Amino acid sequence: DTPMLRKPEWIRVKAPGSPVYTETKRIVRDNSLVTVCEEAGCPNIGECWSKKHATMMIMGDTCTRACSFCNVKTGLPGALDADEPEHVANAVEKLGLLHVVITSVDRDDLADGGAQHFVEVIQAIRRRSPATTIEILTPDFLRKEGALEKVAAARPDVFNHNLETVPRLYPTIRPGARYFHSLRLLQRVKEIDPSIFTKSGIMVGLGEAREEVQQVMDDMRSANIDFLTIGQYLQPTRKHAAVDRFVTPEEFKSYETIARTKGFLLVSASPLTRSSYHADSDFARLREA
Ligand code: SF4
Ligand code: SF4
Repeated sequence: DTPMLRKPEWIRVKAPGSPVYTETKRIVRDNSLVTVCEEAGCPNIGECWSKKHATMMIMGDTCTRACSFCNVKTGLPGALDADEPEHVANAVEKLGLLHVVITSVDRDDLADGGAQHFVEVIQAIRRRSPATTIEILTPDFLRKEGALEKVAAARPDVFNHNLETVPRLYPTIRPGARYFHSLRLLQRVKEIDPSIFTKSGIMVGLGEAREEVQQVMDDMRSANIDFLTIGQYLQPTRKHAAVDRFVTPEEFKSYETIARTKGFLLVSASPLTRSSYHADSDFARLREA
């Protein structure tokens, strides 16, 4: 076990419990969906669900990887639920989402890593809510030949895959993943279809140096990644990787400024930034601009 650092005053969150929050929860339950908001114990759930912004996590609640920062349970997942695409599409329609973020667990056990299932979810949402923009946050499809191409062909509006941390920390924080593989994945999406926006993010407070964060930004720009998110890592339980330190709001501001000068189209860098945090309003602003 690793001791938990006390949270600073700038990690303040809105308590859940508004009527809209309850409504969101009901729609999620009625469709038997899993959300990353709940599985990850996301601190923003009170705010997001009060605006009906729930991020669905498809392909089950059990992951074949075991990243040391992540609260999702590890094990051998069950079979895919063939009804899930319709359930997700139904929830998106009921929630009235203009922009939806769909993520998943990693499914190293499946021959295609779950690529076809992602495609079916995208298609089901398009059928029911053609005006809704779709952002997917995918696994790395490591050693899954053709998986990425299949998902890109379904033309999500935003293709997100998180690098999570600086390459030096991969062996402890993201074992089982490869930094340059993840980077290349996003670069490939852009090569296949330049009209798809690409997005990635990292957590800070894991022991990375400022120069390393800037190097990651440069690597991302070399791979033509459009959007960047940077948020504070929070330790889900004592069994997870420890927080090295809490990055100050001023440091986040500075990261944001640097990222903008490097040419990212959208940058969100703040203590409570998560991949899907304000993804809808940020994307809407970009489309209006
Ligand atoms: Fe869910 Fe993302 Fe909001 Fe967290 S930031 S509650 S994961 S939508
Ligand atoms: Fe969590 Fe994703 Fe890592 Fe699985 S692959 S343990 S869901 S971060």
